[in-house]
Amino acid sequence: MTIALSDVRKTYQMGDTVVNALAGVDLVIGAGEFTAIMGPSGSGKSTMMNILGCLDRPTHGSYMLDGQEVATLGDDELAITRNKKIGFVFQSFNLLPRMDAHQNVALPLVYGGVAKAERNERAAKALAMVGLETRMHHLPNELSGGQRQRVAIARALVNEPTIIMADEPTGNLDTKSGNEVMEIFRNLNALGRTVILVTHEPDIAEHARRVVHVRDGLIVRDERKERPPC
Ligand code: ADP
Ligand code: ADP
Repeated sequence: MTIALSDVRKTYQMGDTVVNALAGVDLVIGAGEFTAIMGPSGSGKSTMMNILGCLDRPTHGSYMLDGQEVATLGDDELAITRNKKIGFVFQSFNLLPRMDAHQNVALPLVYGGVAKAERNERAAKALAMVGLETRMHHLPNELSGGQRQRVAIARALVNEPTIIMADEPTGNLDTKSGNEVMEIFRNLNALGRTVILVTHEPDIAEHARRVVHVRDGLIVRDERKERPPC
């Protein structure tokens, strides 16, 4: 068991009003699952993503990640856990424009103090996993949107995280590039990685093997498919 949320609540105080962004979420996600979190705007998806991704802590409840309670960690410990265990992919790619694909992918390893030769090797391997071995020395603006997002996926992979979290990863892509990006997540999942996707698009959620529907800060439906769709 990789992830277990138990009675997770998150409240925000807005003047006199208390917003229950998460109102008691129980969720277990096993290693190697491919899960989409779906729901309308304001349902609590981002809040859940921020908690699952160790960017934020619950107000109440427990979050066990790889057997460690993270709900009660301090900021520094939370950041260490995040950097070690989670790879993030964002809607807006978040690549550095003056660095080529290979340098962008190697960056988390620079922060992690990995020596140069090993950085180069691991970044090249991660780029090969997303089919960009021939684009290593292109700048982001020399790549298509889909290719940029694949660079971002390679960057998320380079630290060999337990979990890859993607927040609306196809939101800035056309349908064809979006499907290519989803195909990469499916391949990574087939190779055993845990993938969690946040989306409000049913067509994108279809690529996952499990869809968790969120509404008003609660899980209202949890669907599993027996086989991945073709
Ligand atoms: P989604 O990602 O599904 O759009 P969010 O998790 O962003 O939903 O928001 C869930 C609820 O919590 C919404 O009512 C939103 O307005 C509220 N909320 C989210 N973040 C904050 C915040 N920092 N301060 C106050 N309210 C917030
Ligand atoms: P999107 O483009 O999908 O809306 P954002 O780039 O706005 O995503 O990022 C979503 C949240 O994650 C923001 O709160 C942001 O501060 C945080 N964030 C962005 N990049 C990182 C990162 N590399 N590590 C940790 N948190 C990040």
